[in-house]
Amino acid sequence: MTRLTQGTIVSFLADIFTRRGHEEYLGEQVTMSAHMLQGAHFAAAESQREEIIAAALLHDIGHFTSEFGSFTMNDTEDRMHEEAGAKVLAGFFPSVVTDCVRHHVAAKRYLCAVDPKYFDDLSDASVHSLALQGGPMSEAEVTAFEKLENARDIVQVRIYDDRGKVHGLEVPGFDHYRGMLQRVVDAHLAT
Ligand code: FE
Repeated sequence: MTRLTQGTIVSFLADIFTRRGHEEYLGEQVTMSAHMLQGAHFAAAESQREEIIAAALLHDIGHFTSEFGSFTMNDTEDRMHEEAGAKVLAGFFPSVVTDCVRHHVAAKRYLCAVDPKYFDDLSDASVHSLALQGGPMSEAEVTAFEKLENARDIVQVRIYDDRGKVHGLEVPGFDHYRGMLQRVVDAHLAT
């Protein structure tokens, strides 16, 4: 992988959406790119901050770990995609974005523990993966999660994640967000 820079990171991400976005989102009614674009769309529709829209857009980018030069033949589907995604974004995006990416699976385990209705509304695939991910959080895990600096934003992005599974819903494509992503990167790197 060539070294990513402030000037190439957004194109790098766009390229992943273009080449890999059609891939199936395991067990769901939408492709990977449709899923992430729908999440971003719902965040934008609620006038969220650009960091939150960016986080919703990129939350599953770690599914494409092979794009980051870390692929091994031992990879399995649940190879901590959230950690891989946060790592590649960390050099360019503020911590609120990387935290939302890193903890989006934890947020699901958190919400399952604190909100019974949340569990009832999960998709079948998401219920299945919940077991692999450790099930609902314990009380101690809930307490620790709530202490995370960006806990509220992390939960909010998780909710957009869960909503972004609507078969056939047409939303703006990646290009719609390019300028916004670059602004988030530039603002972060300027600090
Ligand atoms: Fe997702």
